[in-house]
Amino acid sequence: MNNIVFGFEVPANEPVKSYAPGSEEREAVRRELAALENRVEEIPLVIGGREVRTGRMAEARNPCRHAQVLARVHQAGEAEVEAAIAAARAAKREWETMSWVERASITLKAADLLATKYRARMLAATMLGQGKSVYQAEIDAACETVDYLRYNAYFASGIYADQPRSGFDQLNRLEYRPLEGFVFAVSPFNFTAIASNLNMAPALMGNTTVWKPASTSILSSYLLMQIYREAGLPDGVVNFVPGSGALVGRVAMAHRELAGLHFTGSNRTLNQLWRAVAGNLERYRAYPRIVGETGGKGFVFAHRSADPLEVATAIVRGGFEYQGQKCSAASRAYIPRSLWPAVEAAVVGMIGRIRMGGTGDFRNFMNAVIDEASFDGIMGYIDRAKASPSARLLAGGRGDKSAGYFIEPTIILTSDPHFETMEEEIFGPVVTLYVYEDEDFAAALELCDTTSPYALTGAVFSRDRYAFVEACRALRHAAGNFYLNDKPTGAMVGLQPFGGARASGTNDKAGGPLNLLRWVSPRTIKETFVPATSFEYPFMAE
Ligand code: NAD
Repeated sequence: MNNIVFGFEVPANEPVKSYAPGSEEREAVRRELAALENRVEEIPLVIGGREVRTGRMAEARNPCRHAQVLARVHQAGEAEVEAAIAAARAAKREWETMSWVERASITLKAADLLATKYRARMLAATMLGQGKSVYQAEIDAACETVDYLRYNAYFASGIYADQPRSGFDQLNRLEYRPLEGFVFAVSPFNFTAIASNLNMAPALMGNTTVWKPASTSILSSYLLMQIYREAGLPDGVVNFVPGSGALVGRVAMAHRELAGLHFTGSNRTLNQLWRAVAGNLERYRAYPRIVGETGGKGFVFAHRSADPLEVATAIVRGGFEYQGQKCSAASRAYIPRSLWPAVEAAVVGMIGRIRMGGTGDFRNFMNAVIDEASFDGIMGYIDRAKASPSARLLAGGRGDKSAGYFIEPTIILTSDPHFETMEEEIFGPVVTLYVYEDEDFAAALELCDTTSPYALTGAVFSRDRYAFVEACRALRHAAGNFYLNDKPTGAMVGLQPFGGARASGTNDKAGGPLNLLRWVSPRTIKETFVPATSFEYPFMAE
């Protein structure tokens, strides 16, 4: 079986279901929501395939109704992190030598289980645990997760097939070895798909992982782990260790066998982890790979030729879907004076029609933000804007955390292009607008480029091709994912590989082959058919 040269076809992206009233998929999600709401799940660690219960417990709550406990979660201590590393190393021997097609088969089976048998349950877990509407859960926890798993098999085909030329007297090969050691995968709360890919991309390339899931997405993370196991993922390939980030991180980052860090989360956390790598350099067997995708300050930049309704829609969808808790969210906008009255009217009109509430009421466009710390941080930004002479609230501005962590969709208009909400990542439903004079287009582009340390996503709206070309040039390094006449969110695996530069991370483009290349360390093998038997060359002759 191992002599098959195998390649996977380019897959189609998983179709997005509608969840319209009366649809079968809607009823299935409702049933799963009811089932999850009626129990408190007990979540163990999973180390080397064994469920480990430490008895040190944390709770996971529904952000839309924080009195509701969804799960009680066993927390890792130092001993469990060490055990997870040992299990990852032990599992690696078999896993890395097995044909990659066998590994791909497991990930593809996981994709199919998720697309069918577990789709509704995964949506319910993501809706309740992470506060996503059914549509936001569908595009993330079902479609994007499945797309990563299917596309990566296809990308890996291309990587393994890419071989050097061989001359008539020699055979040259590239062996795409996995990294030596274990990969530490640290996932953020906001995307189930990312949590999955942080583990399964390195695993597909023959690595094994120690996974620190986010405490606020634990329901969906644990379900992922169960699906991998049902798909046949061998024990120890992914080791699930919920717990304090600081504790798990300290032990994992100090280990001699740390081969790579696959991280998505805030810039602050990545900096801490990177510093830990720097501080431990002498300990490691090899230089650890660091793949870290972090925050953003997505912009919408309108040229005077843009359609105001399209601009307003991008601001509202890009800024407020999933309460702005996307790294790609639109959170600042630059609007030319001539378009401003029409954009303002359209944005304010749309916000007036937004419904907000629990995820169980499918009419809600917005739900709660993830937790109290996040709520307080976002309200801090809004309150400072309310008190500032250089800012004015056009919409929203109120929050209520009495039952769930709800914050109104908020629009700040500022006269200061360096106002703090134009620069810093807020990670909540707050968009700040700055109006520039039409004739200052070039200066406004320069402002947009230099205002924030982040460079993840950005969108330009223009019906004038020359203006677009100028914007594209001026903003060349301002966003790793750049959009023309579209909102800056919603990148799809295989179609818009994702990642940003500057403070937004290492830009290793998850959802494309570049990310997979980070999880291999190729060995070049040259074989000479008729080896030389004399050291002398013709030029040395008398
Ligand atoms: P976070 O940085 O607070 O946490 C991310 C993960 O790191 C969590 O699992 C957390 O427990 C863990 N952690 C925290 N401190 C740690 C430590 N010292 N050692 C080890 N692990 C530690 O981020 P978050 O709030 O979960 O996610 C939101 C952030 O993620 C935003 O900044 C967002 O922009 C970013 N994000 C970026 C992308 C991208 O592709 N660029 C995608 C999604 C989210």
